[in-house]
Amino acid sequence: MLVNKILPEKNDFQLAEDAVKLLERQLAVWELLKTNYDKLAGIINKEIRYEDYKFIVQYNPGRIKSTTADVSDSGIQNRKCFLCKENLPEQQSGIMYNKKFNLLCNPYPVVGKHFTIVKLKHMPQQIVGNIEDLLDLTRQMSKYFTLFYNGPKCGASAPDHMHFQAIEKKKMPLEDDFKKLINDSRNFKIDKSRISIVAAETYPSKPIIVESEYKGEILKAFRIILNGLKKIYEPKKEPMINIVSTYEVNKWSLFIFPRREHRPKEFYTGELLVSPAALDMSGLIIVPRKEDFDKIDRDKLIDIYKQVSFTKEYYEFLKKKLFDNFIRY
Ligand SMILES: [Zn+2]
Repeated sequence: MLVNKILPEKNDFQLAEDAVKLLERQLAVWELLKTNYDKLAGIINKEIRYEDYKFIVQYNPGRIKSTTADVSDSGIQNRKCFLCKENLPEQQSGIMYNKKFNLLCNPYPVVGKHFTIVKLKHMPQQIVGNIEDLLDLTRQMSKYFTLFYNGPKCGASAPDHMHFQAIEKKKMPLEDDFKKLINDSRNFKIDKSRISIVAAETYPSKPIIVESEYKGEILKAFRIILNGLKKIYEPKKEPMINIVSTYEVNKWSLFIFPRREHRPKEFYTGELLVSPAALDMSGLIIVPRKEDFDKIDRDKLIDIYKQVSFTKEYYEFLKKKLFDNFIRY
């Protein structure tokens, strides 16, 4: 039985308002969502400083399912896809976007208001073919929200069904800290009239930051970066990346995090349940166990980033690719 209700599409920028209203309506009728939002009040945060940057470690027991999600092929095959429309809980409704996506309340919120934007069609998580939608959605949602994408092998708990997520703006420390990275002369920078790209090596998770007012420029740069990364990873698979996407004052800022590992070695020994994805790479580190929350200090945090983000050697290679391409741009 199809019980999921999808509302008709609305005009530009209305999506952010509609999302807020959807959450209000859903909280009134969906017990699990209400319970999990109530639990957000009990979350504990602690702040860690590294150089000039802020990191927030968040103890959030509600995220245990996501942190420890079995994303192996057999794990995926043995469960019903929880993002497919026919498997959504009876109480869940959504907002249709562009006849392609369904915006849903995430029943396991990380912080503030949290949405999952799910492709209507069941198809694997991949950024190629969906990046333009990410930019459009970012703009449409920009009044209140920041969007993100987790690659199928580095953070997506549904690698079999294409989706983005959105949380309230400025919840990730990097959204404030990135301006310092852009102005840090130690970071490699390409500055053209219509686009700028910064390889932000001085930040522990080493994002590539692409900024432009022109969607076409961002798409072109993204292609170049992705192709550069493909030379490092297996060329036929999507390189391991997380993406955070914001839109402010008519400009997109795209943070691309090239990844080396899905999880640090301590995850597999059970020593530390932390499974870094887009939010963690952007300075909001989620841990579902109190013991891990207590354990993480500055050195531990930097070591986790070191394990899961790019090596110096890979980064040099990527910078060279960027330089070679953009010099002829
Ligand atoms: Zn599905």
